[in-house]
Amino acid sequence: MDGLTAAQTERTPSRADTPRDAHQLTPAQVETGLGVDPGVGLSSREAAERVAVHGPNQLAEPARRPEWLKFLDQFRNWLIGILIIAAVVAGAIGDIRDALVITVVLQINAVLGYLQERRAERSLEALRRMLVPTARVRRDGTEQLVEADILVPGDVVLLEAGDRVPADGRLIVAETVEVAEAALTGESQPVAKSTAVTGPVPLAERTGMLFMNTALTRGRAEMIVTATGMRTELGSIAEALRADAEPPSPLQIQLDSLGRRLALLSGVAVAAYALVALTRGESLADIALRAVALAVAAIPEGLPAVLALTLALGVYRMARRGAIVKRLASVESLGSATVVCSDKTGTLTLNEMTVRALWSGGRLHEVTGEGYGTNGVVRGGEATLVSALLPFALCNDAHLTDDGFVGDPTEAALVVLAAKAGLDADGLRVELPRTGELPFDAATKYMATFHREPDGRTRVYVKGAVDVLLGLCSEVVTEDGVSELDDRCRGEVLDVTRQLGGSGLRVLGAATAVADGAPDQASLNGLTLVSVAGIADPPRAQARDAIALCRTAGVTVKMITGDHADTAAAIARELDIDGDVVTGAELDLMTPQELSRRIDDIGVFARVVPEHKVAIVRALSERGHVVAMTGDGVNDAAALRAAHIGVAMGVTGTDVAKEAADMVLTDDDFSTIVRAVREGRAIYANIVKFVRFQLATNIGAILSLLGAAAAGLPAPLTAAQLLWINIIMDGPPAMALAVDPAEDDVMRHPPRDSAERILDARRLIAIGRAGAVMALGTVGLLAFARPWAGTDTALTMAFTTFVLFQLFNAFNARADQGPLLGRHQLRNRTLWWCLAGVLVVQIAAVHLPWARTVFGTQPLDPVQWALCLGTAATVLLVELLVRAVKRLVR
Ligand code: ATP
Repeated sequence: MDGLTAAQTERTPSRADTPRDAHQLTPAQVETGLGVDPGVGLSSREAAERVAVHGPNQLAEPARRPEWLKFLDQFRNWLIGILIIAAVVAGAIGDIRDALVITVVLQINAVLGYLQERRAERSLEALRRMLVPTARVRRDGTEQLVEADILVPGDVVLLEAGDRVPADGRLIVAETVEVAEAALTGESQPVAKSTAVTGPVPLAERTGMLFMNTALTRGRAEMIVTATGMRTELGSIAEALRADAEPPSPLQIQLDSLGRRLALLSGVAVAAYALVALTRGESLADIALRAVALAVAAIPEGLPAVLALTLALGVYRMARRGAIVKRLASVESLGSATVVCSDKTGTLTLNEMTVRALWSGGRLHEVTGEGYGTNGVVRGGEATLVSALLPFALCNDAHLTDDGFVGDPTEAALVVLAAKAGLDADGLRVELPRTGELPFDAATKYMATFHREPDGRTRVYVKGAVDVLLGLCSEVVTEDGVSELDDRCRGEVLDVTRQLGGSGLRVLGAATAVADGAPDQASLNGLTLVSVAGIADPPRAQARDAIALCRTAGVTVKMITGDHADTAAAIARELDIDGDVVTGAELDLMTPQELSRRIDDIGVFARVVPEHKVAIVRALSERGHVVAMTGDGVNDAAALRAAHIGVAMGVTGTDVAKEAADMVLTDDDFSTIVRAVREGRAIYANIVKFVRFQLATNIGAILSLLGAAAAGLPAPLTAAQLLWINIIMDGPPAMALAVDPAEDDVMRHPPRDSAERILDARRLIAIGRAGAVMALGTVGLLAFARPWAGTDTALTMAFTTFVLFQLFNAFNARADQGPLLGRHQLRNRTLWWCLAGVLVVQIAAVHLPWARTVFGTQPLDPVQWALCLGTAATVLLVELLVRAVKRLVR
């Protein structure tokens, strides 16, 4: 067996050797060179063997940073730098114990930070793996969807508008193909491609070739892969492979500047304190010790790691529920979204198309049967059916299979319709071979194919939006046979369209003509309209509820569709989307100012082309909205980029749309967007909670130290104790707050103002208040206990009180939005475990002999413990009191 494989492996390179300069060879030469019949493709065995020779179709990843360097990165933070200086200062003035503890705690902090970062990184990596690129290939004679990294030279790849080219290849079929090659050649306009041979020309002019990572913006193509992985043109440009680091999100920037300001504050506090202490004649060593403690107290060194982890875990959770967020920063925007603009087909509806009505020969026929099964009939009018349905069957790329269909759902529904009338679309396509085509384009809203008839003439078959077809037709088939498309007939067709659309059906017309010219747009005139089909696409069951939820959450939903206004309005009514219906043609007549003035009243945009979406996003942004916009087509990329949150469809979306988007839906379902908004709000709320929690600790510590100094008392917290507090608080309790389950009412508030700073005046005051209460309690208890318990015990009580303050303050922080007391406070079990853990650890720090040596503590008796606990509870009581007063005042 091994021998056989080896022999074949040796043989394969000669047969499957990549033809150099394939653009100078004809498709046939490339086929022979690579040993492939394009109608059949490679066999899976051959493909497997070639992978063994050529390796996977992957670009080399940039070298990974070794783990030990990532660990050392933890010390590169400037906040940590200050702490290292603090340790050195402590050591220099002979406080070896503090110096040691600071050093040990810094190590623990680094390990925690490293572990948190690694967990965040893993979640994000898992996320990236959910978006592996795929390619449509022909292998073993059938079309298959495979992961792009198993492509090999010789593979036949099938591409359509919006697809990313997965490897370098020679075009063998090219129907009006245009490709965006900016990534490779810098050419900003899409370039036209064909199968023609070119000479020894530069890359940008090799029109017979497609290159990896460029994108088809128009048409349909087949290519034979000539180079994969690092042997592609892209692979040879090392520079293009450098992954750009994600820029810091607005939240990260805000928190960073917050850290800086706190450090500055501690600098000022240290200076002020030193000045006072010097005039009082305190020893330099004492001053230095307190300065060290102050610096340690002020620095929120754990914050960045918790933030990174919260975002990463949050997006991972969202991904498991169908929304893959590509940029962490979009989580913040999601939480403040005020408008969701959603495509209709496939997102608000199921994209399960069934033809329900057919207008042909001047009469409307009912079509029975459900889904893509062919059990059903077209009632009446058999005489005209064959000619009425030929365009639908031939101008169509879908195929029925045993378990459904391959291709576009709309087209599959039309093949089913033909089958119900006894027409075999596959057979017809063999009988009347296709000689040319104009693929469907959301902008033109029609598709045309050219076929050779038995008598040698060429006939064009067209299907598309009826209003567009009417512009191309001069005749129509009515009850009396073919007649001129006069105003009366036109009125009749429009009535039918309105009637079908009004009941929520998608309406598609069919037309035909003899075409003697070249297969291009110019030959599409003087057509005969032969039939009109009404296609049902039921709304998604959850969409209505999700839209209702948006309403209570202050998020407006707008429907955007290429469909007819009547169809769109009917579906919008079913889904309960309010607002005016405006068509693309009407949008064209509005100035940007006018649109922006009216936009809040519009609920449905019908018959729009993707370019309108950009105008819609602009108008909404102008009104101060935070916009989520969905898209799937190649032309949607601009709107997806313009929106605050571009949302691409994972199933039906093109590669180009997915790349431009901030978020990809794995189930294309509208309600997933709404769930993501909810999750975005919950994540933001949790970030607020732990920032509030940690900063109150920092402020409390600074105020306690300054307060004690001002009162002429010894420092209530040593540097080592402060770091200890930081570690036990920054770690488990902050993390527990970060993964707090979403409050039930997150979707009952209006969206957060996107310009809101994470620490607005209200939160700053709350943090300041909590800090002040902690300082008062800690210093007050120190002053109170010192005369009867002795300085050492009083200091231990102060330390213990300060720690217990944090436990109570966790509940204040948790109730940033909601009520302070209630059953919801019991819901986060992790938090309760963490708080219990902190309490146990504190008991150990006070009562275990070795811990006492480290922290310089004294054992406390039950009364002293009770005093500490009682004092610490005041932080919760004060918050309750403040809220009660506020309610009274209001
Ligand atoms: P969305 O709601 O996601 O924007 P849509 O289905 O409403 O999608 P398009 O797919 O752009 O919008 O369709 C617009 C119109 O083009 C349809 O109303 C129909 O008349 C026509 N159409 C749709 N699919 C085809 C097709 N495969 N061939 C020809 N015409 C089509």
